[in-house]
Amino acid sequence: LKHIGVLTSGGDAPGMNAAIRAVVRACTHYDLKVSGIHEGYQGLIDGNFQELDARAVAHIINRGGTMLKSARCMEFRSKEGREKAYEQAKKQGLDALVVIGGDGSFTGASLFSKEFDIPVVGIPGTIDNDIYGTDYTIGFDTALNTVVDAIDKIRDTATSHNRLFFIECMGRDAGFIALNAGIAGGATEILIPEDDKEVDDVVAKLKASRDAKKSSNIVLVAEGDQLGGDVFKLARDAGERLPGYDIRVSVLGHIQRGGSPTCSDRVLGSRLGVAAIEQLMSGHSGIMVGLRNDTVTTETLHDAITKKPGINRNLMHVAEIVSL
Ligand code: ADP
Repeated sequence: LKHIGVLTSGGDAPGMNAAIRAVVRACTHYDLKVSGIHEGYQGLIDGNFQELDARAVAHIINRGGTMLKSARCMEFRSKEGREKAYEQAKKQGLDALVVIGGDGSFTGASLFSKEFDIPVVGIPGTIDNDIYGTDYTIGFDTALNTVVDAIDKIRDTATSHNRLFFIECMGRDAGFIALNAGIAGGATEILIPEDDKEVDDVVAKLKASRDAKKSSNIVLVAEGDQLGGDVFKLARDAGERLPGYDIRVSVLGHIQRGGSPTCSDRVLGSRLGVAAIEQLMSGHSGIMVGLRNDTVTTETLHDAITKKPGINRNLMHVAEIVSL
């Protein structure tokens, strides 16, 4: 093992830079050559490589986004595209690849490592926390803090005007952001894809909340919730049955992806970056590095993408109680 490539792919997440930095510095530490590949799998196919040394990743640990840029690459979804990527990897003299990304990126990485004789290790980088085999993905903690900060600010105006706010946060398939940020932000109701609450349930909860003399109400909706598919419609439907409420909708959108990574995400990115290189040096491939119970662990890429991390039922239980 002499030359390692690292790329970021799919949705970007704060803390990816910390992982890139750790990969590069672990390579320096272990005397390996390392190339940053720009724009994900597209850069791998096109040969968009840049040799990196320890100094090339200075001053990035505190920055959101990814210095290598990310991309969605249709070509890599086909066998022919992956063949081109392999040809390019050989041409550049790559011996192994580190892929920082989410489940889509891991699906590509898993296929690539099975089809060709090039070891691949994945690092889970996504704000959604929807990867099996790690307690936390890189970017999740930062996104949570962004959402909680937004809820706090919306609450100030909600309270001043006795308004009811429906806030939509990210989470197309998973409610991890909504559930955690909802508890931390004091939401009256939290709607997540893993739960099957109806408009009736939301209305009943809000009426109970009014009877309990709550002065402001926040309903936090994950974008993938069945009612949240259209948060404006949900607000209208609920509003029709809640006369006298002044209702507003706020869609948080892409601010949730940005910002300086939190301490947790920087430490997580650093740990997983070093672990990825050490796993490759030990001869492993087709795996993801993750963190469980504060210990670095590994999972096959296959399981990481096919198994689903369950939502924490205890958090749902706590959310019900503390929102009274
Ligand atoms: P994320 O990694 O954040 O889930 P995407 O789902 O957009 O983001 O995936 C990122 C990239 O991974 C895609 O643009 C594509 O190049 C590759 N990819 C995704 N799904 C597959 C697949 N089924 N087969 C091969 N490559 C894939």
